[in-house]
Parts: sequence; structure tokens; C-alpha cells
Amino acid sequence: MRRASVCLASLLLFACGDDVSSAGDDSGTSGTSGSESSTSGDPSAGTTSTTDDTADASTSGGADESSTTDGPPPEELEFAKDIRLDRITVNQATQVTLVADGIEVPGEDYNTRVITGRRTLLRGFWSLHANFEPRDILGRLTIDYPDGTRLEQDFTQFVAGESSDGAGAASFQWLLEPDEVVPGMTYRVRLYEPAGTEAPGELSDPPPVAPLAGPGTLDIYDVPLQIRIVLVPVQHEFEGKTCTPDVTDEDVLVMQQALEQTNPVQRTIFEVREPMVYTESIAEGPTGGFTPVLAALATLRAEDDPDPSVYYYGLLDSCDGFPSGLGGQAINIAGEPTENNGGDRISTGRWNGSGAGAAGTFVHEIGHNQSRRHVRCSGGEAGIDAAYPHAGGRIGVWGFGIHDFELHTPSGGRDYMTYCSSEWVSDYSWEYTLEIIEVLTGFDVAGTTPSDDVVLAGLIHEDGSADWWTQRGTVDPDTALGNARFETPAGPVDTVARVRPVPHGHSARYVEVPLPASARSLSAVDISAPGTALRVGAESIRVIR
Ligand SMILES: [Zn+2]
Repeated sequence: MRRASVCLASLLLFACGDDVSSAGDDSGTSGTSGSESSTSGDPSAGTTSTTDDTADASTSGGADESSTTDGPPPEELEFAKDIRLDRITVNQATQVTLVADGIEVPGEDYNTRVITGRRTLLRGFWSLHANFEPRDILGRLTIDYPDGTRLEQDFTQFVAGESSDGAGAASFQWLLEPDEVVPGMTYRVRLYEPAGTEAPGELSDPPPVAPLAGPGTLDIYDVPLQIRIVLVPVQHEFEGKTCTPDVTDEDVLVMQQALEQTNPVQRTIFEVREPMVYTESIAEGPTGGFTPVLAALATLRAEDDPDPSVYYYGLLDSCDGFPSGLGGQAINIAGEPTENNGGDRISTGRWNGSGAGAAGTFVHEIGHNQSRRHVRCSGGEAGIDAAYPHAGGRIGVWGFGIHDFELHTPSGGRDYMTYCSSEWVSDYSWEYTLEIIEVLTGFDVAGTTPSDDVVLAGLIHEDGSADWWTQRGTVDPDTALGNARFETPAGPVDTVARVRPVPHGHSARYVEVPLPASARSLSAVDISAPGTALRVGAESIRVIR
């Protein structure tokens, strides 16, 4: 479960929510938070020109290694005076420093990886001489590509004081589109007085160029990264009513953008499946809750038999209400991603009337499907990731939305695996999920198919009742603390059992037992694991594989 945090505006580069309230009451409704603090420069307001091997247009100032060709005549620009260019950052969701004090930061020192083919914000920050006179300054980003092409992008900023990362976004800003972010690209930034202006003051030493020593190389992690989602509208038929989310293209787009903004991907692929009819109670109660829905989704996925990378997410618009405090639920905290554990990629959540209403919970539950545990913030989170590096669930570095252009402050933003509001992706989460996404995308690229191994899977619900079915899968004996004994006509068959908690599940458990061919004729199976001891009769197992 998680709470959605909603930034109330989507203006370009505005700081979203220093005002963070925690949500310890575990309520399933979305908290809104985040005060829009300021608006500022539009990163798309600059001018961009892409040229083939044209001359470096900035020949004045003596710091350029310009080449001369038959391109257009160079524009005469003077380096900006009384100003230094100190720092350059890059941001695809979490900020990375490229240049500090004029010196290029080597790629191995980046706090997160920068990936290929993703919309990317670069920013430049300055310091001023005491007698700087407020005025427009032109920041020019020059990018050279391995194929010999060059991109120049100008951003004019009114400079009246020191630069800052946040509120006011007093920085130079350049936005690169996905196809402009490729391996081997180099970058350099120079600050000029706008054309035709006569500026007072002195040129700083060194002049406002970064990196100082020469073009910097953007260290890019170049692998395909994608997430594939099947949204399953749950058609809830209960007590004479039918309640089904009406999922429009716009709803899908909102959910897609929420996932893309907070995950290291080049793209996401969404499919809206035919609705799944569900006729049990969803409300709190002995037979209600989300884990029976998860069991239904798991059998649906097993029957559909999609590629191993594909996530199934159920959208719930219940006819009889919801368990209090529960916004969504994942089938477990997924293990290491393999081609054989596609059954770990199942979760569900409240529709809340729209894709926007569903998106926050969706991102959190997919996080559990990506092996993520909770991050402590409100204090209500159970199953904490002790390795999370930032106190209070803070994101720790500046965040930036590639679709909504919102900024998120290091101390105000909270990781999306917390229960707090103002949620965003941290540098830690970015790196963590990148590992998972790379493996799963690798399956897509290689066309990897799962083995024919079968497991007996089960969900034990809060009231002790359970659903059992068979699906593709394997259980690594090293991760299984339990045992199982199948009763068969040929005698007992012993194997391991893996029992894992269901997040937000209290006593709910997800069980997997390898089902060898020799045990297919079972009459019953006894499963024992820490906290679990039960007997399952063959008649209660739904055989899908
Ligand atoms: Zn959770």
C-alpha cells in the first residue's frame, strides 16, 4: 500500500513540495501535498540548432578550439563578464553532477548511471563577482556526437543573484530529447553576453566555460531498458452490481508517464487486457481483501502465459468498498528476476476513478514486484530496506520529471517506497531498479522463454483460507526455508517449499513448491516452513500447467 502524492501544478521546472507530511495512518486514500513554490525558466524556451560539422560559433573569448568550415558565418559573442560557470548537472529523474568547480567529474564518480535514449535535463550554475550588474546572460550548450554532428542549444537567463538548484530554478537549463542522448557524446557550456549588448565588468579568470579543460564526455550506460505492463481492469460483479474501471487512453498515458518518470527506462509498453470478472467481496471481512484478487490475477497470468518480463496489474473499482488502509498490494517482494519467476510480477490497486488516481499506488506496487522493500518515513512502513541511504526516506538528490518538468527537492521529496507524500525516485531506487529492468529487458531482447518447470503456488489469506494453483516456475533451494512432502500412489515425494510474506499482508503468505513430474499424481501435499504448517488436498488445486 502507499499513498499518492500529487503535485498540484505541472508548470515547467517548479519545485514540488518541501512541505512533506507523513501518512502514518495507513489510509488508502490519496493524500495531496506539495506546495508549488515557484515557477521559472522553461527548458524548452531555448533555441536549438543542430548542424553538421559547422564552425564553432563562439570564436571570441579565446577559449574555444573552433574549427573553420563552410558553415554560416560565426556569430560574434563576447564571454559574459563578472560571472563564473562553476557547476553542470544532468538529470533524467535524479540529479548527477557532471562538472564541479569547473572540473569534469569522471563517470565512475557519478552518483547514478545516466542512461541512453531518455529525455535529459542539463543545468548550469554560476557564481558572481561582487560588482556584477543584473542582466540577461546567454548560456550555450555545445554537444558533439561521434558521427560528427553538433548540437548547439542557447538558453538565456536573467541573472540577478547567485544560482540555485531549486525554488526559482535560477540556473541555465537545456533539455535534450531521447535521440539526442547517445554514447560518445561530448558536452561543453559557455556563458556569453547576448548578441549586440555592451556589458560592463571584467572577464573572470578562467572565463565562464565548463568543463575548463575541454569538452566533457557524458558517461552513458547504453543498454535497452523497458518495462512491459498488462493492466487488468477487474470487473467486480457483486450483490447485483457491476463495478469496472473505464480505462481510457488518457488514463493509460498518465500511468505510463508516472512509471517512466520514476524508473530508469527508455520506454514502457502498456496493454489494457480484457476485464477479469471477479465475484467475491473485496471489502474488509473474512472473505474479502486483496489477496484473493491477487490469486485470481495470478491464475489469469498463468493461463495467459505471457513473456517472463511482463507485469500484471489489476485495477480495482470495488462494488462493496475496500479494506481500510489498503491502497494496493503486490503478491510478494519479488526475488531476483529470472525467466522462471514471472509469477512474482503481479500486483493490484485501487483505481480511484482515473489513471491519475491509480498511478501513485501503481508505481509503489510495481516497486515490490521489482524486489523493493519499504523505505522508512512515516514509521508505519513494515519490512524496511535497511540499506536505504537517506534518513527519513528522503530522496537525497534533486529530482526532475521528464514528462511534467517538475523539480523535487532532496530533503522534501520522499522515496516512492515510503508511505509519505511528495514521493519521487531516489538515486538509490534508480540504481536498484535499473539492475532489475536490465535483466528483464534482456529477456525481451533475447526472446528468452521460461523453462517447462512447474510449481504449486498458493496464497494463504488473512483468514487462513487459501487459493492453490499450478504455474510455470522454479524455486531455488537456497532461498527456500521450508519443506514439502507430496503423497502420491508411488509413495512420498520430498522437496523444498518457499513461503514469503505478502507486503501489507499481516498474516498473508505466498507459497511456492516445485512440482516434479513424479508428484503430478499427488493426492495431497504437506507444507511446513517457519510460521506455516498446512496440508493441501489435490481437490483444492487448480491445475493450469
Ligand atoms: Zn508497499
